[in-house]
Amino acid sequence: MNRVADVIRDDIKVMTAYQVADLPEGFIKLDAMECPHHPFAGYESLLSEWADLAKQAPIHLYPHTAKSGIYEELRDVFGIPDKAEIALGNGSDELIQFLTMLVAKPNARVLGIEPSFVMYRHNAALYGMEYVSVPLNPDFTLNLPAVLSAIEQHQPSLIFIAYPNNPTGVCFKREEVEAVIRAATGIVVVDEAYGAFHHDSFLTWAGEVENLVVMRTISKIGFAGLRMGYAAASPSIMGELAKILPPYNMNQLSLAVAKFSLKHHQIIQQNIDTLKTSVRA
Ligand SMILES: *Cc1c(COP(=O)(O)O)cnc(C)c1O
Repeated sequence: MNRVADVIRDDIKVMTAYQVADLPEGFIKLDAMECPHHPFAGYESLLSEWADLAKQAPIHLYPHTAKSGIYEELRDVFGIPDKAEIALGNGSDELIQFLTMLVAKPNARVLGIEPSFVMYRHNAALYGMEYVSVPLNPDFTLNLPAVLSAIEQHQPSLIFIAYPNNPTGVCFKREEVEAVIRAATGIVVVDEAYGAFHHDSFLTWAGEVENLVVMRTISKIGFAGLRMGYAAASPSIMGELAKILPPYNMNQLSLAVAKFSLKHHQIIQQNIDTLKTSVRA
């Protein structure tokens, strides 16, 4: 008898593992939205300061995220309001996982739109939750009446809205997202992974609106390899999330390098501006 196959969950046995695409020679990889170059390429002194930081990072000690100074740096650079508490994830993918775990009561539902970021549905499935998806309009705009009626009908515990949306690149109207937040019966995660490429953000609402989580990442602005996502929300959510996040999910190297990078955010902003103009050209 094959005991391994017997003990593993049937729903996982029929899944396929996430495939990181191999890049054939001469191709340009676009699907993961990585910055095409090192964010400090061409800045020799920054690169050597960065190497020194890595040398000095206390890798023999467990990381202490709260004491590392990273929260202060994030508040400063991105204007996270004082009222909001911050949580860090090993990529925002990890925050999606733990936010889903937080509400995974029997019969609880997650609502997302379709198409959107694949991890919302995947995590709902992993935690045994029903995923209610509401299709976008044919022009990729939000079908607000359909979303509102799905909220009323299914009373989701968690709603994910990518603002701007991935993979369509379209950003929904702010008033529509506000209407979703107001109508929600549970937590709404506004996922601003691409926030740097848009002129609007819900970050100023973080901490103000009890059921809102604003989630962001430094991946799409040049640091996908550091694996650092952050979420800002009210103490009612963050106090509970803190109980289930692994205490050492961030690592000393990422923390040190991320802090240093945020200090040089003007260069990051220049890179974003360059990316935006090269795409437009
Ligand atoms: C890339 C992406 C993420 C995951 O980002 P990481 O911080 O690298 O895990 C989450 N949400 C959306 C919409 C994304 O595009």
